[in-house]
Amino acid sequence: MTITHHPGEEFLIAYASGAADEALSLIVATHLALCPTCRRAVREVEAAGGVLLNDLKPAELSGGALKSVLSRLEEPVARKPAAENPRAPSNVPEPLRSYIGDSLQAVSWIPVAFGLAYKPLFRRGASRVQLVRSAPGAGIAMHTHRGEEFTLVLEGGYSDATGHYLRGDLQSASPAIVHHPVADDDGYCFSLAVVDAPLTFRNGAIGLLAKLMGL
Ligand SMILES: [Zn+2]
Repeated sequence: MTITHHPGEEFLIAYASGAADEALSLIVATHLALCPTCRRAVREVEAAGGVLLNDLKPAELSGGALKSVLSRLEEPVARKPAAENPRAPSNVPEPLRSYIGDSLQAVSWIPVAFGLAYKPLFRRGASRVQLVRSAPGAGIAMHTHRGEEFTLVLEGGYSDATGHYLRGDLQSASPAIVHHPVADDDGYCFSLAVVDAPLTFRNGAIGLLAKLMGL
């Protein structure tokens, strides 16, 4: 399995620092379970966060937001994504299993139209988290979104104008991107989607923290 589409560094930092909300944490943790490259990056961010806390004096920090993010680095990180177990019969990565069980096929899918079905998981603030199942060759988009949209392929694949996405690939699309994803025609495509996620991770404290870490 080769993963070519990864979360942006700002999202890995937000995840590692505990600044990501439950919706973003779930989709990043699920990607991490499938992606050794990003697991390594998160370990480096966690280590860099520790060094940063040791090296910086509080007086050198500018702005309350950065202080608040840095203070969260001190909190114990409870979420450790488990590596994918190749012997496990489940096709559901570990972080998702507590939400949907161990079979994508057994989810109580709600049919929408044109080969498309979905399963809402939860909402946190403006963010909505849902599973999407698309029949071979069917379109995947079934919603408009005002904020950032993240799609993580769990099984199968899809393509749009930006590329081809397979199991483990995570696509981030802003509302400015008009995309019409279509599932591969060799089987069902299952994905995890976070819709209308706030854009706050793109700026402010997280961006500054990323700079300080040399990312
Ligand atoms: Zn990755």
